[in-house]
Amino acid sequence: MKKPRRAVVVVCDSLAADLVRPDTAPALAALRAQSAHFASARSVFPSTTRTSSASMATGSPPSAHGLLGNTMVLHEDGQLVRLSVGKPGFLDRLRSVTGRTLRCPTWAERLAPYGGSIVMSNVSPGAAYLQDPDGFGHVYHRSGSRGPGGIALEDGLSIEVGAVGDAALTERFCREVLRDRAPALAVLWLSEPDHTAHHVALGSPEHLAMIAHADACVDQVRRTVDVLDPGGEEILLVACSDHGMETVGRQIDLDTLLVEAGWKSGLESSEVVVAPNGNAALLYFADSARADISALAKWLQDQDFSGRVVWGSQLADLGLPTGGPLGIALALRHDAVANSHGVTGCSVSVRSPFSDSSPPGCGQHGGLGASEQHPFLYLRGGGLPPGERSQPASLVDIAPTVLHHLGIAADGMHGRVLR
Ligand SMILES: [Zn+2]
Repeated sequence: MKKPRRAVVVVCDSLAADLVRPDTAPALAALRAQSAHFASARSVFPSTTRTSSASMATGSPPSAHGLLGNTMVLHEDGQLVRLSVGKPGFLDRLRSVTGRTLRCPTWAERLAPYGGSIVMSNVSPGAAYLQDPDGFGHVYHRSGSRGPGGIALEDGLSIEVGAVGDAALTERFCREVLRDRAPALAVLWLSEPDHTAHHVALGSPEHLAMIAHADACVDQVRRTVDVLDPGGEEILLVACSDHGMETVGRQIDLDTLLVEAGWKSGLESSEVVVAPNGNAALLYFADSARADISALAKWLQDQDFSGRVVWGSQLADLGLPTGGPLGIALALRHDAVANSHGVTGCSVSVRSPFSDSSPPGCGQHGGLGASEQHPFLYLRGGGLPPGERSQPASLVDIAPTVLHHLGIAADGMHGRVLR
């Protein structure tokens, strides 16, 4: 008897495509040879984990789903307020301000009547819950696990971020989710190599050990899928990363620079509020300061830390909304210089008041650098012939491709079905 179709998605956070090689990640390199391999896959902007998670889940860019970075600025009681998206209460706050969490349905919502979804994630709570913020399926996370209707689950996760937690998560995912519960969509999101690479040099022995660890986790998933679907027809296996990383060349404190140049009256003033996002920053403007947007954008273009400065209607070109409090998007300056371990890509980074800054010499992401914008993306099974594809592809294409495999409509999604 033919079994129902399923999709299995495994994400190695922050693993750039160029770092998947036979010597660094042998199982992933072997999987690539068996897969439809999208060599031109790109991340979204800002290339942060929470934006990426929302874009993967909705098949849509930030302009459509409304989640604009790891740090966001909300309009609360007439004031612009800067908040970390990673904190457990952020999504409730977003819902109370805007009336809803994400502005587009997630794959969890679309699949709720058709076999459901189970997400097991070891990254930040914000990124984990953005897979399914309104509780249509199951999300397992160390900060709290929830089932349909947002009901707290008693069989939650007691693991820690990092390699040991990832290994325990993978073991449980393969045994419980893939073998026993068999939802239409199963997502495993590993914290490595991202967690370690924010504190070490890219390509260092510590970083390579975490790539090897993530590689072994993916291989465990691949072997489980092989046992469950030896013909490779029913299960679509998606192995990917959300973004890569760049080495932090130097850090700037954009708040202080704006105060010193007279664009902000003080560090805590709210006429212009900076949302740092690693190697990018989004600048939000109070109504009273919107007349300054183009002059401030031109000032930013003249600064040695700036890469690309985008404002006005061109925000849409980056997948960002126009017409709201967001005024300017800044991708920090980056270049293709190699670090001492031979890993290319170096960027200026913006210091954050929250915990997601990386020191100089370590890995960071968020911007438009070649490495941070180049995740890997392999699709195996579901009748897809293996081989390299040169067509444009992005994180927003994953959900429509998964839904197509499952025979579910992806209407309203911005991404395309990858073939
Ligand atoms: Zn990430």
